[in-house]
Amino acid sequence: MERKVVTRHDGRILVIELANPPVNALAHEVRDAVLAALQAAQADAGTDAVVITGAGKLFCGGAEIKEFGQTPRAPHLAEIVNAIEESAKPVIAALNGSALGGGFEIALGCHVRLAVPGANVVLPEVKLGLLPGAGGTQRVPRLIGLRKALPFIVNGEAMSAAQALTLGLLDGVEDGDIVGHAIKRARHMVESNAPIRRTGRLRDALEASRRDAAAFEDDAAALLKKARSLEAPAACITALRNTLTLTLEEGLAAERALFVKLRDGGQSKALRHLFFAERAAQKVAGVPADTKPRSVGRVAILGAGTMGGGIAMAFASAGFPVSVIDPDTAALKRGFQTIENNYRASEKRGGMSAGAVAAALNRLTPSQSINDVASADLVIEAVYENMDLKKRIFADFDRLTTPGTVLATNTSSLDIDEIAAATSRPQDVVGMHFFSPANVMKLLEIVRGKATAPEVLVTAMNIGKRIGKVPVTVGVCYGFVGNRMLHARGSEVERLLLEGASPRDIDAAATRFGFAMGPCAVGDLAGLDVGWRIRKERGITSPVADAICEMGRFGQKTSRGYFIYEPGSRLPVPDPEVDALTAKLASDMGMARRSIAIEEIQERLLYPLINEGARILEEGIAERASDIDLIWINGYGFPLWRGGPLFYADTVGLGVIAERLDHYASLSGDKRLKPAKLLRSLAIAGKGFGDIAAAAKG
Ligand code: NAD
Repeated sequence: MERKVVTRHDGRILVIELANPPVNALAHEVRDAVLAALQAAQADAGTDAVVITGAGKLFCGGAEIKEFGQTPRAPHLAEIVNAIEESAKPVIAALNGSALGGGFEIALGCHVRLAVPGANVVLPEVKLGLLPGAGGTQRVPRLIGLRKALPFIVNGEAMSAAQALTLGLLDGVEDGDIVGHAIKRARHMVESNAPIRRTGRLRDALEASRRDAAAFEDDAAALLKKARSLEAPAACITALRNTLTLTLEEGLAAERALFVKLRDGGQSKALRHLFFAERAAQKVAGVPADTKPRSVGRVAILGAGTMGGGIAMAFASAGFPVSVIDPDTAALKRGFQTIENNYRASEKRGGMSAGAVAAALNRLTPSQSINDVASADLVIEAVYENMDLKKRIFADFDRLTTPGTVLATNTSSLDIDEIAAATSRPQDVVGMHFFSPANVMKLLEIVRGKATAPEVLVTAMNIGKRIGKVPVTVGVCYGFVGNRMLHARGSEVERLLLEGASPRDIDAAATRFGFAMGPCAVGDLAGLDVGWRIRKERGITSPVADAICEMGRFGQKTSRGYFIYEPGSRLPVPDPEVDALTAKLASDMGMARRSIAIEEIQERLLYPLINEGARILEEGIAERASDIDLIWINGYGFPLWRGGPLFYADTVGLGVIAERLDHYASLSGDKRLKPAKLLRSLAIAGKGFGDIAAAAKG
């Protein structure tokens, strides 16, 4: 068996190299071998000091996440970090590359930390609903103080070597042979008999933090407010605060207890599910693993409206030169003004530097001529939702661009295959369905047409990631995945309103569940007229929503929708006029009204949506249940810590959901509410959506 830790001597210095490709994860064997090497070094008269480094590009990617579901096996990482820290002989970390999570906690146990300039350090555990469980929360504040430790640990964002050096997390950043530098440093320490600086025993930074405790509490309160219902940030803060009152040993024990509680709790399971979901979504059925994306330099976007502008920003911010084409002079001007306003606002908020804003704006070129698509490698169409217009435009793309140019449409509902048929190269056509505001929302549905070439799909996925999106491949159907499920929820909102729930009741049920906004407030924000127009075109009615629009109430833009909005305010205020309207509509339809419990509203907002997700899976429109979860988390504000609708469904139990759907289907007479075949059969088998993924993997 290959050794996952390699040791060698350079004179009297022992070099321990983590060698567990691809990321030197701290699997059980690695932990075992590091501890054994360290213990041997203590006893070995031929060893004066130890250097720990990593093989390959990374120092260490942290815990072996696959082991999370298993019974933990000794030695735990915390023991190793303690052993490193307590080593009688100097131990130096040579970060040959980035140190993540447990990898950085190993470095924190070392007496000196050196890194190459390209290395990042990060404690990202909070993103998996955890906290650094091997001393990170206790050692970082002892090194740099509580206030600086706070955002580093609670936000879980990576920091460059240079930043980490300035902050005091590293002792040196060196170009070139980092192990060589570390060996030199070790020799010097041994020769000069330098005192060993053990992070866990440092006191100065903590003493200073004690004097500044009120400021720490203010910062912590602000972070907690942002974290809303997430448990991990609060646990991180508790662990950090412990450093002021507990000894290192007590603090480490408390950190461990907090870690175990988070690890075994529902939130971390949900967040870990999403972590794996993102990885899984990168693999698309029928696309060979070695398919290379086409190279994309220039991008052209057709349409400078709401979506075109947002998409253009997403590309420009990521460094792509972009032409934004709109023949309508006023629309083009308005579009660029909106783009500039949005950039200025993010500069003002501190989200972007003035330099970055100027550079992004510089990458954007306005144009009124479709001929300008000729120089682009990727063209994205974002004009009005009209099939004839889109077909004409794609025929133009076909004529004007060179073969190989990826031709994408941002349509939210039209048939990609029909659009592709307007070209002589349907294999180059793909849907890139962005979500509004496109410069902010992470979700990108990549819609695969019948003819879309694997290479084109891979290009679209790859580009999506390069502009910071979460791309998920879906098939063609009305509304694709996200909006199709949203419609299922929309029908239920209508029914709830008629049966007696107010917009406020419905939104309260949704926000209580964890959505940032309820469906009625979301409708008001997006503009109720959009759906109204689509319904009219398709000959569909939604009695309440239609009646509200007929009153000229389009949502926030008209200060009235399901709610009223005071001038300049986005706060939804309940409106008795809407309640009177729904009551009248219900009475006209002969429907009895009643007060509806929040539990029932929640079930009816969620279960029909889950049911539609099951149908989407059945039809193969989505490849995996976890793809659907990613879509709802990244595009529809589904609470992160619930892991997405289908993951959530499994936590409720599909048997329960099937039974409730049957119940609501018989009450309403709506057959769509009957459990989908897949949902029913999983429920009968006592299984969940997660079991399908497991079966497919196996
Ligand atoms: P919009 O009305 O804000 O913008 C459309 C723009 O297209 C206008 O500026 C118009 O001047 C321009 N245009 C019209 N004909 C053109 C042509 N021949 N060449 C170039 N530009 C032309 O619309 P929008 O909300 O940005 O929607 C655009 C597309 O994105 C639609 O297909 C829509 O379904 C889809 N979409 C919208 C949303 C959303 O939330 N608004 C979300 C996802 C997808």
